Amino acid sequence: MESLRFKALDNLSNGLPKIKVEGSQKITAIFNENVFTLETARKYLSDEAFKSLKASVKGGKKIDRNMGSQIANGIRAWAEEKGVTHFTHWFQPLTGLSAEKHDSFFTLKSDGTPIEEFEGAALIQQEPDASSFPNGGLRATFEARGYTAWDPSSPAFIMEIGQGKTLCIPTIFISYTGESLDTKTPLLKALVALDKAAVDVCQYFDKNVTKVTATLGWEQEYFVVDAGLANARPDLVLTGRTVYGHAPAKGQQLDDHYFGAIPERVYAYMRDFEQESYKLGIPIRTRHNEVAPAQFECAPIFEETNLAVDHNTLLMDIMERVAKRHGLKCLLHEKPFAGINGSGKHNNWSLATDTGVNLLAPGKTPKTNLMFLAFFVNSIKAVHDYADLLRASIASAGNDHRLGANEAPPAIISIFIGKYLTEVLNQVETRVSDKFDEQDEAMLKLDIHKSIPELMLDNTDRNRTSPFAFTGNKFEFRAVGSSANCANAMTALNSIMADTLKSFKVDVDALIEKGEKKEVAIMQIIQKYIVESKSVLFEGDGYSEEWAKEAEKRGLPNVKTTPLALDAYVTEKVKHLFSSNEIYNHPELEARHEIMLEAYIKKVQIEARVMGDLATTFILPSAVKYQNVLIKNILGLKEAGLAETAYANQKQVLETISNHINIVSDNVEKMIEARKKANELTDTREMAIAYCDNVKGKYFDVIRYNVDKLELLVDDAFWLLPKYREILFLR
Ligand code: ADP
Ligand code: MG
Repeated sequence: MESLRFKALDNLSNGLPKIKVEGSQKITAIFNENVFTLETARKYLSDEAFKSLKASVKGGKKIDRNMGSQIANGIRAWAEEKGVTHFTHWFQPLTGLSAEKHDSFFTLKSDGTPIEEFEGAALIQQEPDASSFPNGGLRATFEARGYTAWDPSSPAFIMEIGQGKTLCIPTIFISYTGESLDTKTPLLKALVALDKAAVDVCQYFDKNVTKVTATLGWEQEYFVVDAGLANARPDLVLTGRTVYGHAPAKGQQLDDHYFGAIPERVYAYMRDFEQESYKLGIPIRTRHNEVAPAQFECAPIFEETNLAVDHNTLLMDIMERVAKRHGLKCLLHEKPFAGINGSGKHNNWSLATDTGVNLLAPGKTPKTNLMFLAFFVNSIKAVHDYADLLRASIASAGNDHRLGANEAPPAIISIFIGKYLTEVLNQVETRVSDKFDEQDEAMLKLDIHKSIPELMLDNTDRNRTSPFAFTGNKFEFRAVGSSANCANAMTALNSIMADTLKSFKVDVDALIEKGEKKEVAIMQIIQKYIVESKSVLFEGDGYSEEWAKEAEKRGLPNVKTTPLALDAYVTEKVKHLFSSNEIYNHPELEARHEIMLEAYIKKVQIEARVMGDLATTFILPSAVKYQNVLIKNILGLKEAGLAETAYANQKQVLETISNHINIVSDNVEKMIEARKKANELTDTREMAIAYCDNVKGKYFDVIRYNVDKLELLVDDAFWLLPKYREILFLR
């Protein structure tokens, strides 16, 4: 029987059917078509119901049951006009994916008359039988089922899958006693904390500010490969990455893929998933090739963080689904291919006031300049004080392959701010605090707003090695993994910012109470914060050895693996941070820690199994088959009476292959033993560390190295797994 590899290659060279994508429509014509926006709501709701919904969307006001029913009816009317028959609460449990359970509007009255209905209660709250989602022991402890509750700040939408259309209600997912079981609940709480703390600080500068929202613009990197080839690789199917595969003769060394022309099949795919995204209100703006072959990126216009996170989660789902239509496979894994750049998801982050000011954009007047400096320096202080938590918030088995692998930011969290702002901070720092007075306005008159944009263009974006970079009017958190739900990183970042701003206000107020002028008090605390946190600033090459050494001297954490990085979630300091800001209570945090460790264990466990299975059933049989060919050949030559020199080469290859076979099967055995031992551990953290150090750390590389050598030796016709050169270059 022909192997899947060769079938897939055949299919590719015979030319695959082209999928037609409609698409000369204007984006504005379809944008938000499937979203129950406030504009749409206006048409379907009574004045009263609309007012209630709007107050909830804009001001976080609670909607009562009676109003809920009116709104539910309006949403149903809209959805039914679009052919929707079912609805679901759409939520993001701790699997990192989105979840849904569909119910139909259809029901029977007590006398058996069939009707369609959607009650307020069904809109506002549901109790999915979701006992199989990870809960870190929370529900066992509280002996309660989880339930979902409507989040009006993210609008309802219609998901079209084939001919089916489902109304999706974005919800949070919590236990009966209120503990969060998802990623959205803590994010919303962090955003509330941030709003309050930031508004308080804004009050020093502008009394009109009543709301501050965190903004997020993510940049999603991904790989697209032929589905036939990908499906012939069980490792890609089961783990999202290739556990074996020798680097191709041509990789990314020519840089010919970066920003190059997008291949036609991929282009059709992109336009297709973009159209679906536009209908769902996801404002995708850019698309381009990335550095690695078969790697691409898309990015939207930034949005309020909660909505941006929902949109990214939805998009990832759409990207994977639409790829199938095109006979393609979208890989969101952080490191699908060894030796080739991995994928990240830069999180561009800033803060915006309801008066229309970007708080991380340099101001135009001394007063707004001071406001900028305050928020800018508070961000630096937050990252400095909680670098370990930020590192933990992006930790995953997949991201471990990327961080510190000389392609992505290192595991050391540092901040790049550019030359000009470094100078500004130096100037502030070197002023003796008690010299600040009203006359001393030079500082506040800095032409920051004029100088920064130009300087930023020159040098900020070009330092690709920094995990946290200021890029002119926002920070860019670059260490987030491509498959991650941004909520974890955003919850951490906005929580630490909220907490730091809170302390800032306390510190400034204390000085004002002592009789200091407001501006002077603010400058003094800014100066204090610069002194306390400047060790996190780094402008150099984050990939270099010297930086690792220097960072160690500065006392910056450099945790390379997930099990240890996650420790940061349960330190006393972080527990206090989250509980005092009402984001996570201690049991919730412990539960999350447990869940993340479990997720890590499972990922590595599955990878180890796949490595073992593939070695035994794919790699070694091919190698042995080729060995037999060589043996036959050698024996034949010998029999024909040829001198040993005639088959010396064959003999040597035979020997080398035997050697690799032995090493592979030996280590696969040992790896299985190590796994068994790890499984005996009862403490989850210890088990995760054992999987990291004793299973992955000891065996993955050596097994892979020898398998990849075999790939170079064994007859290509015998090799069952599609090779890198095929997966990466054929579409
Ligand atoms: P690049 O990083 O490729 O140079 P840009 O800087 O224009 O591109 O934008 C990158 C991302 O940053 C985009 O998704 C954009 O929407 C987002 N972004 C821009 N301004 C903000 C902001 N104030 N808050 C959050 N994200 C922003
Ligand atoms: Mg960018």
